[in-house]
Amino acid sequence: MMRGLTVAMRRSWKKILAGLCAFACVFSLAACGDLEDGKIRIGIKFDQPGLGFKKNGTYVGFDVDVAKYIAKKLGYSEDQIVWKEAPSKQRETMLQNGDVDMILATYSITDARKKVVSFAGPYFVAGQDLLVRKDDTSITGPTDLDGKRLCSVTGSTSATVIKQKYANEVQLMEQPGYAECATALFSGIVDAVTTDDIILAGLAAASRGRLRVVGKPFTQEYYGVGIKKGDTKLAAQINNAIAEMIQDGSWKRAIDDNTKGTGYTPNAEYNPPTPTEGE
Ligand code: GLU
Repeated sequence: MMRGLTVAMRRSWKKILAGLCAFACVFSLAACGDLEDGKIRIGIKFDQPGLGFKKNGTYVGFDVDVAKYIAKKLGYSEDQIVWKEAPSKQRETMLQNGDVDMILATYSITDARKKVVSFAGPYFVAGQDLLVRKDDTSITGPTDLDGKRLCSVTGSTSATVIKQKYANEVQLMEQPGYAECATALFSGIVDAVTTDDIILAGLAAASRGRLRVVGKPFTQEYYGVGIKKGDTKLAAQINNAIAEMIQDGSWKRAIDDNTKGTGYTPNAEYNPPTPTEGE
């Protein structure tokens, strides 16, 4: 009887505490994470080598390194980070629903996306390019895609660019992720894959020479940190962290470490960028 009562009392205390937390959450997103469970939830890719990649239960890549740096500056240790998979198509919804606190997933800052989410950054500038089979010399740029089959990912800027600019010539196949596109390219289902050069470089390296990047980028992709729409305070904190990461040499180290052996070098005209978005 006594024990039952204590449990019931503990339960109601928990309820009161949860209520207080929810109340605090209305005022501050960061405090919300702290009060709820002391964790920060970060959306990344799980299947993009060199950027966001799940490997034996750990997470590695440039996006992961930038995310860890930002989280640390916001006051979270590495074991307070909860990594969540954020596929291209689901990023806006995940932020709108509050499933994650921020997204670092090769996520280009665009006006269309800014209608529903906000961004901090940019922290990197990539460019859209093409991935082909090693011995295919027939594709040297998007204008050679006439009558060819191309793979890209649903919800990406890469697929949108192809639909808007090259729709008449190309047969576009959309997949949920770039790893699926690379498989379709190996097996001859498509003739090329298109997305950001840094993503393609990772896939080419993972293919052990079977695939190669064409190497003539035809857009600029400004990678932002996706956050809930209108959180200017968080955007400013994240921008400060990115600026510091660039300044103290960690940004350069992270790029070098994560692109090692791929032959990829960031476009020096745009990198490193100045983070000013969203404040
Ligand atoms: N950066 C582009 C985008 O945000 C392509 C890469 C991706 O799908 O994550 O859509």
